[in-house]
Amino acid sequence: MSPLLPRQCSRKRGEITEASCSFAGIPQQLQQSAKAGFGLLDPPENLPPLLQTMGCAVTLSQPTVDVLQRDAEQGRVALQLVGHQLVQRFHGAANLRRPFPPVTAKPHRSGFSGGNQRGLGLEIPLCWADLPGPDSLCDRMKPDVEIYDTTLRDGTQGEGINFSVADKLRIAEKLDTFGVHYIEGGWPGSNPKDIEFFAQAARRKFKRARLASFGSTRRKHVAVESDDQVRLLLEARTPVITIFGKTWLLHVKEVLGTTPEENLAMIADTVRFLKDHGKFVIYDAEHAFDGFKDSADYALATWEAAEHAGADLVTLCDTNGGCLPNEVARTTAAAKGKLACRIGIHTHNDVGLGVANALAALEAGASHVQGTINGYGERTGNCNLISVIPNVALKLKKTCVPAASLPKLRELSQFVDEIANFRHDPRQPWVGATAFAHKGGMHVNAVQKVARSFEHIDPASVGNSRRVLVSDLAGKSNIVMKAQELGFKITADTPELKDILARIKELEHLGYEFEAAEASLALLIRKILKHEEPPFSVDTYHVSMRRDSEESVVEATVKVRVGDQVAHTVAEGDGPVNALDSALRAALTQFFPRIKKVQLTDYKVRILESSTGTAARTRVLIETSDGKDEWGTVGVNENIIEASLQALVDSVEYALMKP
Ligand SMILES: [Zn+2]
Repeated sequence: MSPLLPRQCSRKRGEITEASCSFAGIPQQLQQSAKAGFGLLDPPENLPPLLQTMGCAVTLSQPTVDVLQRDAEQGRVALQLVGHQLVQRFHGAANLRRPFPPVTAKPHRSGFSGGNQRGLGLEIPLCWADLPGPDSLCDRMKPDVEIYDTTLRDGTQGEGINFSVADKLRIAEKLDTFGVHYIEGGWPGSNPKDIEFFAQAARRKFKRARLASFGSTRRKHVAVESDDQVRLLLEARTPVITIFGKTWLLHVKEVLGTTPEENLAMIADTVRFLKDHGKFVIYDAEHAFDGFKDSADYALATWEAAEHAGADLVTLCDTNGGCLPNEVARTTAAAKGKLACRIGIHTHNDVGLGVANALAALEAGASHVQGTINGYGERTGNCNLISVIPNVALKLKKTCVPAASLPKLRELSQFVDEIANFRHDPRQPWVGATAFAHKGGMHVNAVQKVARSFEHIDPASVGNSRRVLVSDLAGKSNIVMKAQELGFKITADTPELKDILARIKELEHLGYEFEAAEASLALLIRKILKHEEPPFSVDTYHVSMRRDSEESVVEATVKVRVGDQVAHTVAEGDGPVNALDSALRAALTQFFPRIKKVQLTDYKVRILESSTGTAARTRVLIETSDGKDEWGTVGVNENIIEASLQALVDSVEYALMKP
């Protein structure tokens, strides 16, 4: 496959593999336009999110996307963006009714240009405005460095990290929106939870990222097709499969207990088998650096075995995490000299060099980095992608994730911590609360005069802010961005913005966090912006618990008011929150039948540190789903039940409000 088409086809509907897609005739043309500096080809379903990231408003109706996608799969139509032109090209004379002329997008400040295009006999309402120049197109088309996230697999090896299937899906969606290129979802051969994750993920559509399942080469002296662990990898139905195998003779002989030849056969057989099933195969070379130091020839032979068997990518792993950057660079350069495929790097942070080693490999010829959000992982953790991404983009000046995502880096870091139920590390490089905090005196003065005198980058470029100047301006622009993202029409001049900002600051001071509770944030903005009363209110509630030797029963009563009507209900539950949730729902269903579908899917509690003289507060984070969308809400109070009720009320209110 052409390296120019990193994300073409493959993950649609979770079923279609590269082998089954054909974009006949396109790669050649694309290569030409790409060589000319810009050009892009994407499956149609990628077009709306792509154009949105470029600041364009696009509407492609779902039936249209479906038809276009079907055509694209049959190699008949491709949408190609070249510079400022959106060109539709048709391939396969069978379907060609008449040639479709290129359409030039006119700069349009306030509206959309474009219109219905009937070349296919379809209505394709494409609207676009202000397509940016070639830079951002190239940036999306062909990243210099691919980001491979393994938070959901290697990250979960970390102590204290335990994601539910719902957590994993939420993180995967966040990573996809952010723009990482691969998401490793888990090891289906190692636990049923990962199998369940892949089953659910297969029903979702990812916009950019390709989902990978992880496993190992076949067992020794077992035919690859009868190896259960390999079979489970195929059953995960991901477009990408990553397998690890042994590089180091010490491991081959003493841990695996087999011969060097059998190890080579295990690598080659497994890669070939997965390639034969149409998968994009990443080969993770375990202990690559230790193995290379021990026997360079054998190490290279294992990597070549993977490549010759068809591996799309060979990743060198510093599994024990003890290498220095110069060793990593040397070995990577040696691999680069021998292998024609893309080379990846996977490092651990045992000597505090996880990120440094990854960067050393990138400079020595690797172009794919594996790591985890916030550096989660066993022992001292994996290479931290939250540091790698800005280092690649801002220091090495290479393209990786979409440029528009970089200012959301801090949000991503906080979101994943929040789901993992970790406090966000204030000293985390780039995104921590203190990363750009300046303490009084001359220093601050200098920063105020010339920011770069004491700052290595503009904090806003990674979504962080300067702490001495937590200026209204910086705060405002963040909120405007967020509010627009949530669908509000708001600008820096909206008069209510000041009140919204003040309210958020006040709540954050009390311990609220909105990174994983966007539904609560949306309700807050809506209340201030639209001056509307909420659709219902809870007048009173009561929770009681009785336990005897036989059983324990929790009962909740709730009185809700909708307009001038009042409903009073009682419900029992396993615990106070469950009982309260049931009572609230029972009371409201009579007014709003559609909340029947709404379900609480996750509930997390965090005790916040008490400051002098106050009691500790509890923050409750609730996740809700209506089978179609998921949303998070938050409540904070000294009383856990009160905090839970706030989050519950928000969750139902959002269900009623959401578009
Ligand atoms: Zn690892």
